[in-house]
Amino acid sequence: MEELRSRLADINALRAASSMMEWDQQTYMPPGGAEARSEHLGRLSKLAHELFTSDETLRLIEESKPGAAGDDADMLRVVSRDAYLATKLPTELVEEKSRLAAVAHEEWVKARKENDFKGFASTLERMFDIARQEAELLGYTKERYDALLDLYEEGATAADARVMFEALKEQVELVHAIAELPEVDDSILYGNWSIPAQKEFTEFLVKSIGFDMQRGRQDTAPHPFCSGWSRGDVRLTTRYGSYLPGSIFGSLHEAGHGMYEQGTPAKWDLTPLAGGVSLGLHESQSRTWENLVGRSLGFWEHFFPSMAGYFPELSGLTAKEFYRLVNKVKRSFIRTEADELTYNLHVMTRFEIESDILDGRLAVKDLPEAWNAKYQAYLGITPETDSVGCLQDVHWSMGSIGYFPTYSMGNLLSYQIWAKLENDLGDSQELIQAGRFEPILGWLQEKIYTKARQLKPKDLVLEVTGKPMGAEDYLRGLGKKYRELYEL
Ligand code: ZN
Repeated sequence: MEELRSRLADINALRAASSMMEWDQQTYMPPGGAEARSEHLGRLSKLAHELFTSDETLRLIEESKPGAAGDDADMLRVVSRDAYLATKLPTELVEEKSRLAAVAHEEWVKARKENDFKGFASTLERMFDIARQEAELLGYTKERYDALLDLYEEGATAADARVMFEALKEQVELVHAIAELPEVDDSILYGNWSIPAQKEFTEFLVKSIGFDMQRGRQDTAPHPFCSGWSRGDVRLTTRYGSYLPGSIFGSLHEAGHGMYEQGTPAKWDLTPLAGGVSLGLHESQSRTWENLVGRSLGFWEHFFPSMAGYFPELSGLTAKEFYRLVNKVKRSFIRTEADELTYNLHVMTRFEIESDILDGRLAVKDLPEAWNAKYQAYLGITPETDSVGCLQDVHWSMGSIGYFPTYSMGNLLSYQIWAKLENDLGDSQELIQAGRFEPILGWLQEKIYTKARQLKPKDLVLEVTGKPMGAEDYLRGLGKKYRELYEL
């Protein structure tokens, strides 16, 4: 076991170097560094992959298994799965995919810019072909989609996703009812906001909710993300634009991811047990701090007075008015700009389409038509162009097929976990309004963050909430919030 630990620590160091260089690429690297950086990253990831999948490592994993108990057994379970996934796909296929992804990305950028789906269709078709091959090689019991979704959310299946989205269709009615009402005027939130004020205020917020700035920092990046290479060094990014809530909720979202990473127990730092257990659970934590905490009335009753100090333009508003504005529901074409209520309808569209293409129920050439029909059915709007329709997301060009449901799983889980938290702690709005975030963070740390990757995602959900993932807490919570907001 000692020898295996040491080898895993080498691999961890290589991956940490890559991760830090990727973070730097998005934040501070001068444009001239791009070529060398991609060379360095390619070589580092090749070294890590070779070391991890070498006969020697696989032998050490197998030899360590007999008699392993406690943390060792958990670690062996995690690395066995990682090794299985890393060795199941032949190098030629992995290389073919990464070459195709590089071409596909260029083509996708161009197609989106020129609204030319046809120019991208044949490459996308090849990407789906590769996804089908991956699924066959990885194996599944029911359908191809299962093999791909499992890469992002261990144990989750297309059937789980289907049940989830079927339940979420209940939201369609509420979205349509709100669309009948006069549109909320939130133009006051757009302007030429001071960047230093946004930086200071968002840092003040993430510190206030419990993100530890001694073990992390916040910088800017074109597309916000969170990364980290130890519990002692977690990096948040945000962006400052003309829509003020963009940076505020972007920062709270990434801080949710960040606090999950900072919560790894010290004894597991730099080991395969560190970090979040799955994409869905990670997203549940970012959404918790962004939406359940950040987009609540209590939060703004607490923070609005200080916020008006940073942004005097808003001082004519009340906390409650600001709360209403940042929870505006608007049917829009773009997923990343969607509000909490319509967000899942965007995700559902993508899930249905990618699973249909994967199983041959839909041809890639008919994708735009299928996309527009679903937007009409679920959101009541039809995109005017493919650029704001089926060409908007980067995922498929990267070959990340099977990824989308984890966004909605995160939303559902955030409410399901929150219901349990309120059961234990009492009215969360009282705590939030008083600015008392330690009991909330403490509860999440104890139940989720300190578990890191020890349990399988489904087992963790069961342990924390006493039931498997479901939509009822989510639909109840969201229905109540938006019916009150819109007086329906
Ligand atoms: Zn996220």
